[in-house]
Amino acid sequence: MSTTTQSPALMRRKRIATTSLAGCFGCHMSILDLDERILDLAELVEFDRSPIDDFKTIQRRSDVGLIEGGCANAENVAVLREFREHCDVLVSLGDCATMGGIPAMRNLVPLEACLEEAYLKGLSVHNPSGRIPDDGEIPLLLDRVYPCHEVVKIEYHLPGCPPSAEAIWRTLVGLLKGEPADLPYELIKYD
Ligand code: SF4
Repeated sequence: MSTTTQSPALMRRKRIATTSLAGCFGCHMSILDLDERILDLAELVEFDRSPIDDFKTIQRRSDVGLIEGGCANAENVAVLREFREHCDVLVSLGDCATMGGIPAMRNLVPLEACLEEAYLKGLSVHNPSGRIPDDGEIPLLLDRVYPCHEVVKIEYHLPGCPPSAEAIWRTLVGLLKGEPADLPYELIKYD
């Protein structure tokens, strides 16, 4: 009978952290679309900070950080930097993280004009105070929306809005095995 024992390093379950910055949570929905494979994933990995377990800060160093959404405000930047500091590998998950996506449409006009349209001049705006919200609790908006790689180093980009569950699965399996992800053309084509 074979009595092979794995080294502690091989036995260690990998850790994954995930976050949504300026995104719509659609990319996280795509993770949940793994359906029953999410149980396989739970066998392979432990989740650190993630909307999946509701940890609000990173608990321990993680092998992989999945980032949904780009950076639209100061809080997004702080969270992204926290992930960079505590994750070995970062993946920009989806179009918002890789290039700003829908939120980056505001980059076409100056921030001041955006705020005026949203809070003062827009056709549906009712704002008798005439004030633009400025509570200190509200994260400060950046001058424009930045894709993640313009803020920190990002190792991998997985495009799509959202990337399919299959593409996410294959990417994670590749990263966890330390092998290139098997992403055939059909999975990442958008024509
Ligand atoms: S890439 Fe699409 S699905 Fe993902 S956060 Fe952006 S808008 Fe939502």
